[in-house]
Amino acid sequence: DKGESVPIECLDQLSIKSFPLCMRSCHEILRSKHHLKHFGRLQYTLFLKGIGVLLEDALRFFREEFTKTMDLERFEKGYAYNIRHSYGKEGSMVKYSPFSCMKIIMQAVGPQDTHGCPFKTLDPVALKSKLTSYGLSPMHVQEVATFATKGHYQLACDRYFEVIHDTKLDQGIQHPNQYFELSQAVMGS
Ligand code: SF4
Repeated sequence: DKGESVPIECLDQLSIKSFPLCMRSCHEILRSKHHLKHFGRLQYTLFLKGIGVLLEDALRFFREEFTKTMDLERFEKGYAYNIRHSYGKEGSMVKYSPFSCMKIIMQAVGPQDTHGCPFKTLDPVALKSKLTSYGLSPMHVQEVATFATKGHYQLACDRYFEVIHDTKLDQGIQHPNQYFELSQAVMGS
């Protein structure tokens, strides 16, 4: 809902159903490694801004994780600026929009990187094991993974959405924030 802020205390819960794979991955990596590389941070910060996480809350969220492995000064000097920048509060003050699927899918992603669309970046074995760990049945895992291996990443994402929400989509997923809003609508109905 526009105008309502999303507390960071809700992110673990929201990430399970209302985050698409690309953002759930960023969330899990941040939580488990207490770090997220530059492009992953950018992708995830802009998404969080889009769902209604306030700047101060986003800063606190990243600070709490990052300072588990680095001191506060290093975080403030090296990372806080970027987060403020993503919110349009530093530098050119340009308002950055959350990335669309097309933009995320087209990004170059190296083997150690944490950004991108997992339907594209994960190899079939890793994708299937992730989907299984998220509770999909073997049949649904196969169905979703087949779209992905054929290069139909967004169709894979649509099908994943349908399976975990037990519903039918009447529009294709084009944007992670659209995914979030559709999920919240389905769950609220
Ligand atoms: Fe994210 Fe879009 Fe890929 Fe779905 S298709 S995982 S929303 S980039």
